[in-house]
Amino acid sequence: MSDAPVLRIDGVSKSFGTVEALSGVSASIPSGSVVAVIGPNGSGKTTLVRILVGDLRPTAGTVSYEGPDTERPIGYLPQDPTFRSGFSAAETLAFYSSLVEGREPEPLLERVGLAAAADRNVEDLSGGMRQLLGIAQATIGDPPLVVLDEPASGLDPNMSENVFETAAEMAGSGTTVLLSSHDLALVEETADTVLVLNRGGIAASGAIDALREQFDADSLRDVLNEVVGDTSRVAVVGGSR
Ligand code: ADP
Ligand code: MG
Repeated sequence: MSDAPVLRIDGVSKSFGTVEALSGVSASIPSGSVVAVIGPNGSGKTTLVRILVGDLRPTAGTVSYEGPDTERPIGYLPQDPTFRSGFSAAETLAFYSSLVEGREPEPLLERVGLAAAADRNVEDLSGGMRQLLGIAQATIGDPPLVVLDEPASGLDPNMSENVFETAAEMAGSGTTVLLSSHDLALVEETADTVLVLNRGGIAASGAIDALREQFDADSLRDVLNEVVGDTSRVAVVGGSR
């Protein structure tokens, strides 16, 4: 981890009609680390992620990429990745690779444990396997920043662990990984820093041990409960808007 941020987020707000999904979010994302965005459903994680990768324009505020100048600065796994049907997993990755650089797709499929399904059509993959293909797609061309929106959703426990281990390995080799997740145990094991979102704002942030100390909590789950209260109730209130 170095002091130079790869991304600066300054006063970012986003409204969808009357729904204020994000308000006044500021943060700096240190390079070469794993940063986790956690928070209840509807707290604004996907909205923030989409703004960071340039998929969505903020209503106010700015995001500036300050990492190395490269062909593909940011790789992105959307929350619900979709692929064009009729193509195999290998063909799909080859297509995306061709957009970035001449790169063989096999090592990427191997890295996420999909080598055995290389020739299977994407529409015949399980949801979890499609998720893994999306993760492979996000790492094509070794972007300095890889953004993964709920990369472990739909994956079995071993694969979830595999995804988080891959994220830690990437951070170890200098890549910054920003991911959102509900798997607080894996986040606690893997992430260097955490942004806790609640109702569109950053309710807490920092290194995990510092957060545990700040909230006198034994676990990240306890930190989250301290910060946002009963998350099941918050989710219902958020969803009824
Ligand atoms: P999370 O990823 O934390 O579950 P989201 O960022 O998806 O949260 O959503 C935050 C809030 O913004 C929710 O109230 C959601 O309904 C609303 N929202 C997100 N995307 C849209 C959209 N395209 N149109 C309208 N409202 C949206
Ligand atoms: Mg989301």
